[in-house]
Amino acid sequence: MASGTSKGVNQKVNDEARPRSTEIFERGKKTLVGGVDSPVRAFRAVGGTPLVIDHARGTKLYDVDGREYLDYVCSWGALILGHAHPEVVAAVSDQAAKGTSYGMTSPLEIELGEMIVKAVPSIEMVRFVSSGTEAAMSAVRLARAFAGRDMVIKFEGCYHGHSDGFLSEAGSGLATLGIAACPGVPEAFASLTLNTPFNDLDGVEKLFKKHPNKIAAIIVEPVAANMGVVAPAPGFLEGLREITKREGALLIFDEVITGFRMAYGGAQQVYKIVPDLTVMGKIIGGGLPVAAYGGKREIMERVAPLGPVYQAGTLAGNPLAMRVGLAMLPKLQATGFYEELNRKTLRLAEGLRSALRETGVEGVVNGAGSLLTIFFAGNPIRDYTDAKKSDTARFGRFFQEMLRRGVFLPPSQYEALFVSAAHTDAEIDQTIAAARSSLGALANN
Ligand SMILES: *Cc1c(COP(=O)(O)O)cnc(C)c1O
Repeated sequence: MASGTSKGVNQKVNDEARPRSTEIFERGKKTLVGGVDSPVRAFRAVGGTPLVIDHARGTKLYDVDGREYLDYVCSWGALILGHAHPEVVAAVSDQAAKGTSYGMTSPLEIELGEMIVKAVPSIEMVRFVSSGTEAAMSAVRLARAFAGRDMVIKFEGCYHGHSDGFLSEAGSGLATLGIAACPGVPEAFASLTLNTPFNDLDGVEKLFKKHPNKIAAIIVEPVAANMGVVAPAPGFLEGLREITKREGALLIFDEVITGFRMAYGGAQQVYKIVPDLTVMGKIIGGGLPVAAYGGKREIMERVAPLGPVYQAGTLAGNPLAMRVGLAMLPKLQATGFYEELNRKTLRLAEGLRSALRETGVEGVVNGAGSLLTIFFAGNPIRDYTDAKKSDTARFGRFFQEMLRRGVFLPPSQYEALFVSAAHTDAEIDQTIAAARSSLGALANN
């Protein structure tokens, strides 16, 4: 009861400090569903009025009340250089004057495609699309066509966008709202997606035994980041590669979050696995709507117009988005870029662990590369079942305490924190101090 009161107080304090945000959000609710265009933005998991943003720069978001927040969402990881990076802004304005969409091929798409192929050796050919959802959906269609089989294995707590077949045990977004199975998805579709626990090869073996010659592909987030961050156990990804090879199924890496984040060549570079197909998004668009899928030439050649697997897009390969990709990717190739990003994230993770120890609040910090989650749980988190044991009410209170101190964390226990190249050591230390004081406030009631 005391803790419930505390949550209420902090939400109230936060909301009272943002009268204009409250007013605009209330107005928005009449027109936009839930006042938002993507459910997590509604703060349902943490309570209170969502942020209503006026502008952003570097590591900071500024709301319509003129309040400043240190941002660890970074557009859900898309902004690895932070907000409004000057070279990205310049690229967008220069391109806007040359036209925002051609409806025909431009050299920009080819250049960015070549950069991706060079960065990720498993990708020999690529197709640009407009969202991660579209990329994952298209990759699975292609895998089914190539394998001539209908079933797909995904892992509980992994998210691959909101296409029909993927909306089961799909992690953060649905977990936050308590949606187990999504109405509107025909049982016939859902039944073709087989869920099994992340980090458990036995479960995968059992599914192949149960459905011989029926499984087209395994799709996996090589580092799971939609049930909070869960790194692959040693041997897990290698095992998936071996099993799929043996069974004549394709291995699809969903690197929408990990691509160009875990390393320039993605998680597949770090873990030294060669998937058949790769799905990318978020970072490659640097804050503009772009995603891609790609892989082995003999598979990609099945996509129209070379092959019969149809997939198209009015704004696909959009020149504005391609220019952003072309401006951004060279920055990530700078010597030590990822070492520095990971060093800062490790500093944050260590600081949060100390803060938990000092305040006696039960919690676990999981991290991989520049991804991090603080789980309010007493158990190690290796899969979705573990993650779901977290105290989400406590996370909500922690979120509100941090927001009050000017730090914007992802508004759900099951979303990753994203550190960007723009975050400074001073900001990391300021975050750790805010966390220590926030955890102290939790411990005291
Ligand atoms: C965000 C995400 C998607 C979906 O991308 P959208 O652009 O939001 O459609 C797919 N897979 C993973 C791993 C993601 O994190």
